[in-house]
Amino acid sequence: MSDKKLRDLAQEASTRSYSPYSKAKVGSAVETDDGHVYQGCNIENSSFGGTVCAERVAIWKAVSEGHKKLKKVYVYTIDGWPPCGMCLQVMTEFSSLDMEITFGDKAGNEKTKKLGELLTHAFTPDHLK
Ligand code: ZN
Repeated sequence: MSDKKLRDLAQEASTRSYSPYSKAKVGSAVETDDGHVYQGCNIENSSFGGTVCAERVAIWKAVSEGHKKLKKVYVYTIDGWPPCGMCLQVMTEFSSLDMEITFGDKAGNEKTKKLGELLTHAFTPDHLK
């Protein structure tokens, strides 16, 4: 899938964000190694601890449908925020450290980084073997 299409899907997902507390609308689209694409939006909760990021919603949708290998992740926010540390940690479970993550903003600016660049010295499943 093209980066433009993945961006469009992430931006679309952000419109479904449930973020009454932060007002931050985040959308994500993840592509699996076999070409399936899943969207996610951030979902906040009044307990705050129950809040989940857009990236993890998209990843959990993919995994729950049997797709456990991620190929690409796109994150859309108004200001182009990168994924948080917890989302990066979850990504290490289902992708290689070479996987590209793009984060884009409303103005169309984008940054693309490898997972291993964003989460240096990552704790991976290999540590538990
Ligand atoms: Zn996150």
